[in-house]
Amino acid sequence: MVQLDTPVQFVKGIGPQIAKTLVEKRIAVVEDLLYHLPFRYEDRLHPRALSELKPGEMASVIAEVRGTSLLRTRTMPIFEMTVGQNLSTMKCMWFHGTYLEGKFRPGQMVALYGKVEPSRSTKAFKMIQPQFEILPEDPNDESHLLEVGRITPVYESLSGSRLASRWIRRVIYNLLEELRGQIPETLPAAMLARLGLPSREESLRAVHFPPAGTPMTQLQGFGTAAHKRLIFEELFYLECGLELKRRRLKARTGVAFEANDKVREAIRQVLPFHPTTAQKRALGEIVTDMRKPGPMRRLLQGDVGSGKTIVALQAMIVAIENGYQAALMAPTEILATQHYLGARKLLERSSKKYRLTLLTGSLDEDRKKLARRKIFHGETDLVIGTHALIEEKVDFANIGLVVVDEQHRFGVVQRFRLMKKPNAAEPDMLVMTATPIPRTLALSLYGDLDLSVLDELPPGRTPIVTRQVSDERAEDVWKLVRDQVAQGRQAYVVYPVIEGAKDDQPELDFARPDSEEADSAETVGKKTISKKAVSKKATTKKAAGKGKKAKSDDLFEKPTLKSATEMYENLRASHLHGLRMGLLHGRLDADEKEVIMRRFQRGEIDVLISTTVIEVGVDVPNASVMVIEHAERFGLAQLHQLRGRVGRGAAKSYCILMTGGKLSPHGQERLAAMVRTQNGFELAELDLQLRGPGEFFGTRQAGLPDFRVANIVRDRALLELAKEESARFVENAEATEEEKKRVWFRLREAWQRRYGLVEAG
Ligand code: ADP
Ligand code: MG
Repeated sequence: MVQLDTPVQFVKGIGPQIAKTLVEKRIAVVEDLLYHLPFRYEDRLHPRALSELKPGEMASVIAEVRGTSLLRTRTMPIFEMTVGQNLSTMKCMWFHGTYLEGKFRPGQMVALYGKVEPSRSTKAFKMIQPQFEILPEDPNDESHLLEVGRITPVYESLSGSRLASRWIRRVIYNLLEELRGQIPETLPAAMLARLGLPSREESLRAVHFPPAGTPMTQLQGFGTAAHKRLIFEELFYLECGLELKRRRLKARTGVAFEANDKVREAIRQVLPFHPTTAQKRALGEIVTDMRKPGPMRRLLQGDVGSGKTIVALQAMIVAIENGYQAALMAPTEILATQHYLGARKLLERSSKKYRLTLLTGSLDEDRKKLARRKIFHGETDLVIGTHALIEEKVDFANIGLVVVDEQHRFGVVQRFRLMKKPNAAEPDMLVMTATPIPRTLALSLYGDLDLSVLDELPPGRTPIVTRQVSDERAEDVWKLVRDQVAQGRQAYVVYPVIEGAKDDQPELDFARPDSEEADSAETVGKKTISKKAVSKKATTKKAAGKGKKAKSDDLFEKPTLKSATEMYENLRASHLHGLRMGLLHGRLDADEKEVIMRRFQRGEIDVLISTTVIEVGVDVPNASVMVIEHAERFGLAQLHQLRGRVGRGAAKSYCILMTGGKLSPHGQERLAAMVRTQNGFELAELDLQLRGPGEFFGTRQAGLPDFRVANIVRDRALLELAKEESARFVENAEATEEEKKRVWFRLREAWQRRYGLVEAG
C-alpha cells in the first residue's frame, strides 16, 4: 500500500533506474511527487480554433499533423511541421530540430503551446519552437482522459524527454487515486476553517487536475484556493520554525548591559558628527535590547551610505564599557581592514585607551597567534576581522557583542559559531546588511531577528548624477574623469571581468546576468555555445521580426568583454595618460589589494580600475566618479552597491553606466531604473520582480530555503499571513492535541529534510 512516505521506487511504473533519477531531483518519496506541481495549465477543454488566433498571444492549440519536413539551411537544420483544423493551418518551426525527425505522423493529434507569430509566406500564423505533446490516438486509452477534454497540467520534466508531462500526469493521477481519502491533513481544522482554505487532499487534487470551470488566469498565477492552501502550508511551517527558534533564543541567558551616564559619555567622545534621526532610533532599539538579559538578535538594515558603521561602533562601546569584548566581522579583508582603520581613528578621539586587534588571513602566523592569545586572555577590547577567521578559530575571554557585516549575504540560517566557554553568557549579535529588501520580506525571512532600519541618509549629500552612455561616447566619459581628477577628485572604473575571456574567472568578479542573458553570458567563459543558447537567440531574432535568415557568424558571435587588466593598460596609455592609476581585482593577494586600496584612500591614486571587489562597503569620500563598463551585465543590486561608492562626500558625483551593443529588454529596464531612482528599496523591489527571489538572494547557501510551492515575491501576502498564524499557533493554538502533535512532528521533519537547517543547540 502506497503512503506519503513510501520511497518513489516502490511506486507503480517507477523502477530503480527512474527512482535514482528522481532522487537526484530531490524527489525521494511519494509526497515529493505530489508536491511537484504543474508550472502551467492548458485549457484543452476549450482549445482555441486556429482561425481565432491573434498574433503576439500565447496560445494552446490542439490540431492534426498534416506534414513535416527537415530544412537544411546554410546555418542550421530547421524542422517544420504543418498542423491543421479543418481548413485552417498553422506552421511550427524548431531550430536545430533534427531530433524531431520521424517523431510525428500525419493524422496524429498534437497539443501545441507557444507564441502566435504572423507568417509572411503563407498568410497563416506560425509558432516558433512551441512546446508540444502528441496526444493519444485511441480515445478509449485510459490516459486519454488525462490529456484532452480537460484543463491539463503541464509539468517541468524530471528528466529530459523521458519523464515529461505525460508521464508525470499519469503517475500523479494514479497516486491520487490510490491515496483517495488517505492524505493526512497537516494544518488544524479550526485554522483552515477560519482562513477559508481547502483541505490538503482536496488542494493537491485540484492543483494537479483542476475541476472544469476553474478560471485559467487564477490557475496560471497560482492563485486558486488550492494553490493558496499549499503555499500557505509551506510558509506556515517555515515561519513556525523561525518563531520557535526565536523563542528558544530569547529564553537563553545573555548579558544585561548597563547604559548609564558613563557609557553615554564614552559614546559622545567618539562621535564625529551628529547622528541622523534614523541612526539615533536604531541605536536606541539596539541599546534597549542590550540592556535586557536575553541575547539580542537584531538586523540593522540600511542602504549604502546610510551610516551603519557608526551605529555598530556605538553599540560596541556599550559592550566594552561594561567590561566585555566586542567583535566585528566583515566579509572581505579590505573591508575588515577599513573597519579597523576607521574604528581606530574614531576611538583615538576618546580619553579612554581602547585596545583594538585586527585579525585577517593575510597576517603572518606569528601575528595571528599573538592576536588570538590577546583575545583569549582578555587583553583586547575590540576584535575586527573577516567572518571566517573569527567564526572558526577564536576563543574569547568574555565576548559580549558580535557585529556581523553581512553586506548582501542573506540568511534564515545563522552561520554564527563563535567558540564559547562553558557557562559563558550568550553574546548579543547585530547583523548589518545593505541589501534593501522590503521590510515585510526581511521580517519574514529573518523571522528570528528583530529589525532596525536606517531609512535616511546623513545630511550634506548631493544626489549622484547617473547617466547611461553608449560606448561610442567613451571619449566624453574619459574627459569627465580627467576633469574631475583635475579638480582633485578620484574615480572608479569597474569591469565585469579581470582578464579577457578565460575559463577561470572567479565568480566573485562576474555578475550573474538575469536568465535572459545567462545563455549568451555562457559564451564568455566557455568555448562551446550550448544548443539552447543558439536556438534561443535565434528565436528572439526571429521574434523581433527581422525576417532575414540568421547568419552563422551572427549566431556564434562571441561577445568581447573589456576586462579590468586590459583596460588598465589601455587607458593608461591613451585617454587617461598621465593620471595616477591603480588596478584592483580578486586575483591579487590580500596584501597587494590592501596596499592599492590604502593608496586610493590616501589619495595617491586618481583612478582605480577594478572589478566588483570594490562593491562591498569601501568608503572613499573624495571619489566622485563611478564608471561602470558593460553595465548591462550587472544585476541591479550590484549596480546600486557600486554607485554607493561615490556621493559619500559633499562634492557633486557621477555614476556613468556604459553599454555596448544591443541591450536585452531586462538590461535596458535595469539601467533605466538606475537613472530614474537612487532609492535602494525601489530598486530592490524591481530587481526582485525582474530576477525572481532565487537569483536575487543568491544560492541556497545564502540561506534562503528552497521552496517547493511558494515564491516569496509572488506570495508575499501569504508570507505575512503565515507569520501571523505561526505566532498565533505557537502562542495559543486553536487545535486539538492530536493536531498539535502532528504539526510539531511535521515541523521537525520539514526543517531537517526540506530546509536542511541544522539546529545549533
Ligand atoms: P554604510 O551604511 O554604507 O556602511 P557608512 O557607515 O560607511 O555607511 O557611512 C557612510 C559615510 O557617511 C561615512 O563616511 C560616514 O563617516 C558618514 N556618516 C555616517 N553617519 C553620518 C552622520 N550622521 N553625519 C555625517 N556623516 C555621516
Ligand atoms: Mg558599511
